[in-house]
Formats: sequence, C-alpha cells, structure tokens
Amino acid sequence: MLSNSLSSNTSNLSAPHLVVDLNAIAANWRFLNSCSQPLAIAGAVVKANAYGLGLAQVAPCLLNAGCKHFYVANLEEAIALKSILADAQVDAAGVEISVLSGCARGDEREFVERQILPVLISLEMAERWSDAASAGARAHLKVNSGMGRFGLEGEELESLLQSKNLRSDLGVIALMSHLACADEPEHPLNQQQLSRFSSMLASARKQLPDLQGCLSNSAGVLLGEAYHFQRTRPGIGLYGGNPRPSFPQQLQAVVKLHLPVLQLRNLNAGESVGYGASFVASSPRKLAVLAGGYADGLFRRLTGRAKAWVTDPNSADTGGWFAPVVGRISMDSTVIDITDLPAGVVAPGCAVEMLGANVTLADFARAAETIDYEVLTSLGARYRRVYVE
Ligand SMILES: *Cc1c(COP(=O)(O)O)cnc(C)c1O
Repeated sequence: MLSNSLSSNTSNLSAPHLVVDLNAIAANWRFLNSCSQPLAIAGAVVKANAYGLGLAQVAPCLLNAGCKHFYVANLEEAIALKSILADAQVDAAGVEISVLSGCARGDEREFVERQILPVLISLEMAERWSDAASAGARAHLKVNSGMGRFGLEGEELESLLQSKNLRSDLGVIALMSHLACADEPEHPLNQQQLSRFSSMLASARKQLPDLQGCLSNSAGVLLGEAYHFQRTRPGIGLYGGNPRPSFPQQLQAVVKLHLPVLQLRNLNAGESVGYGASFVASSPRKLAVLAGGYADGLFRRLTGRAKAWVTDPNSADTGGWFAPVVGRISMDSTVIDITDLPAGVVAPGCAVEMLGANVTLADFARAAETIDYEVLTSLGARYRRVYVE
C-alpha cells in the first residue's frame, strides 16, 4: 500500500519522487536480527535521518518489526526520535535510545532526565558522567579495539575499573567497540579487533559479570557468531545497502528514485549541452531533460558515468532501455541521451528510474566512485517521499 494515496503506477508522477519500501526495511531488520541470534539481539542505527530515508517513518516501522534498541549520532537526533516514537502511538515499552558520540559537556542532565543513553567514548566523559548520573541512569562504554577513532584504550579501561564501579557509578550496561574492516571478511584486523575486544570485555566482566558486549555493525553481523556477543548494531543493511560490496547482496532493496522528464530536445551535430559545453554531439542526438541534479544527490561526478532506466509507460512490458547521462549534471537538472530508444517512449511528464531494480544502489555508488552510505545520505530533501507500507 502506498501511504499518500498514489497509485502503484509510479511512472507517471510529475514530481521527482523517492519511493521508500518500509516492508523491505522491516524484512532487512528481521534478517539481520535472525543472523544475530541465538546469542545476540539486533538494534538499529538510525543516525542521519535513518540514512537519509526519513526517521519519522523508519523508526516506527522498525519498532513494529520488533527492534527495541536505537542508535543515533547525537543528542538532537535522540530527542527527535523520542518525540517521533511518542507521536507514533506505538508501544515504546523497553525502547532504548543511545547516542554514539556520547554526552557533550553540559548535556549530562538532559541525558539523565530524558533517559537517553550516552556511549561514553573517553575517560574524561566517563568521569563527567559518573558525577552527573543519578541512580537508574544508564550508559554504554566504548573501547578502542582498532578503529582508532573513539573509545578507551586498554590501560584507560583498567584505570577506570580501579576508580569506578561500572554499574553503580556509571550505569554501564554494555561494552561497545566498532569494526574497521568488517566489509572485508579476510582482513586480518577483524580477528585482531575481536581478540582485543574479547579481552577488554573479560577484564570488565571481572567487575561486572553480566556486562553485555556490542561490537558488530551490519557487516560484522555477517562475519558470524564469534562477532555477535549480546547486541548488534546494523545500519546500512537495513536500508538496502550491501554491507559487503564484493559479495552477493543478501538484503532487500529499499529505495527507488524516479525523475520526471521536463523537456525533450534535439541536438545537431556539433552542438553542445550543459555547463562548460562539455558534451558536444558528434551526430544528431535526441535528449531528455530530467528534474533533479546534484542538489538532489545526483553527484556532479556522475556526469558521463550514470545511466537512467527508461520503460515505455504505454506498455505492460517490463523491458526497457538504459539511457546515458550526457553533459554536466546541474544543481536541478540532468540530461540523458535517448537517441537509441524507439520514438515516442519518452515524453514530458513520464518518469525515468535513476535508482531502483535496474539501476541498483551498488551500480549508482560505483558510478559515483563512492559507497552506498554516501548515496543514501545525500538523497536530497526536495523529493516527494512515498512510503510503501
Ligand atoms: C554508523 C555506525 C554503525 C552502523 O554501521 P553500518 O555499517 O551502517 O551497519 C554501527 N556502529 C557505529 C559506532 C556507527 O557509527
């Protein structure tokens, strides 16, 4: 069912629109949760507006699928998520919202009062938190096992364990760390991080035996049981990204991006299109101008590299044609070459696929020389978003 009463034939919509399949997100969470079992339960990383797809729709969908543990990047995102779940009239019992960057100086009270869990990423932050945390306040403690970004080093953990009680002083429920190379299963750093994390967890458990472990992102979940501990934190896989791009995708596609054709043009040999006149026709060309440009996440770098998938709106046939992007991508428009398509297939008002079943997220990211994460989080705010539920 489409949420804002659009028909399921999306090819005739006149505005650029992004179709987000909430059923696929729920199915992807269930898949990653079942991979995490029997040892662990999966949470969901919903930072950056659920990787650009819309926190207000994605979070209630994940909650309905059974997810209870949500991870965001900062306090503002956590507050937004709290109010979304309150408004969504969903059963939020047992929901836990954790902030991956931890608690900034001065925000301690806000975390405590709103019952948001900081991920304590440094000794300094842990000490501040222990002064502010009242009974019942909870937190995660992050250690560095090899990513080298956030978290306590081994000696810092030892000194914290000497001076503080993880449970009564800090309310720590889980020890967390983050994998740097989980998307490359053969990378030796995976094993090293696993063994460093395991030994830090063992030290901390001497003080707090029921401390949970939380190491894996989406790709870590796919590394197998040794990496699961008690909690996992997938993000990209939920949104249809491939956690291990050099392996077959195991997760369902979530987004489709359709751009309407605004105008058709004919280019004579020797004429050019777009800024810088960078594309010059060597023979007569037929072009279609699409609504949507780099302000909408069609990176300028895709100039001459991306292609759109075009189907015939008047035919039930599921076949279609690829049409290459030509000329520089502008802020609001992109031009494709439709010379080789049958006449009449493309007309102003019909829509072409820039992302979907035929131009996959992986294809798009490869053409832009980037990763699925950057493609999703760059999808602009201007699209009409259509949620399938
Ligand atoms: C973003 C993030 C994740 C999610 O990673 P994916 O690769 O998207 O699954 C997990 N943990 C931390 C600390 C993160 O910053």
